[in-house]
Amino acid sequence: MSPGFLGSESLVSGSKWFLERTRLAFGGEEIAKPNNFGMVYIPGFRCRDCRTLLLQYPADPKAPPA
Ligand SMILES: [Zn+2]
Repeated sequence: MSPGFLGSESLVSGSKWFLERTRLAFGGEEIAKPNNFGMVYIPGFRCRDCRTLLLQYPADPKAPPA
């Protein structure tokens, strides 16, 4: 596993966790806020062999992003 960040453009709201896919991404629990440039970065690890991401989102998603 090698460390890095999952980065996503997120201009309207942050990254959300869903129990199932919804049509227009309504609902879901926001787990990470975008920074002032509309990007979410979630730190974690990636395994290139089995293509698994292991992410650790912030304890307080309402706090300003680092
Ligand atoms: Zn692996």
